[in-house]
Amino acid sequence: MDKILLMLQLQAELNEATNGEKWTDGITKNNRVINWKRCIYMECAEMIDSFTWKHWKNIDKEADWANLQIEVVDVWHFIMSLAIENYTQTRRGQVDDLAQNISELESFAKIDTKNNQFAAQDDIIEKIESIMIDTLSRGALNLEKLIADFFDLVVMSGLDLDSLYKLYVGKNILNQFRQDHGYKDGSYIKVWDGKEDNVVMKRVLDENSSAKPSELYKELAKLYLALNKR
Ligand code: MG
Ligand code: MG
Repeated sequence: MDKILLMLQLQAELNEATNGEKWTDGITKNNRVINWKRCIYMECAEMIDSFTWKHWKNIDKEADWANLQIEVVDVWHFIMSLAIENYTQTRRGQVDDLAQNISELESFAKIDTKNNQFAAQDDIIEKIESIMIDTLSRGALNLEKLIADFFDLVVMSGLDLDSLYKLYVGKNILNQFRQDHGYKDGSYIKVWDGKEDNVVMKRVLDENSSAKPSELYKELAKLYLALNKR
């Protein structure tokens, strides 16, 4: 429950910093329409690209399981955003109400158990497609179904609440860092000394597994500044 609440709070902060205070109305400070459902199904497509699903290309290549987990975390950013927006717009409550209700879902118990086993590739792809269907349907959003499908996917992707939390905090901080260093206007440098920032973030996280979000941010800033001095 604590970890769910912390993630929702970090997500709300990131959205406010990126899109302005009124992001829950579905509009950014630059007057751009926000479409979280689209963010989710497009990111799901990236997730499927972790597998060699094309029957005509690289047919013997192994799936990129590490990338699958990164994309799961990317989708989680957008699902939490959609959930917070939904709670606000339908007056169901605040972030703490949402966290409480998520922790009471039957599907929550599944991620609250230690796990590092991957499911079969075809089953994972089918689950990802269920999430796409949840967000592509024209009717009212079934938030509980979407979250339940996502938690199933978390387990199938070899993750659990602890590992999801760790990866999420890392990616959230990186997203905040990108926004603070020119991501919107395109001046941000994504490849650091030959490695993508995602990879650098994961290394920093592995080396300081008990680091607080603020410490992780500082470490990224140090590495990024050193890069710019060359
Ligand atoms: Mg993406
Ligand atoms: Mg992605």
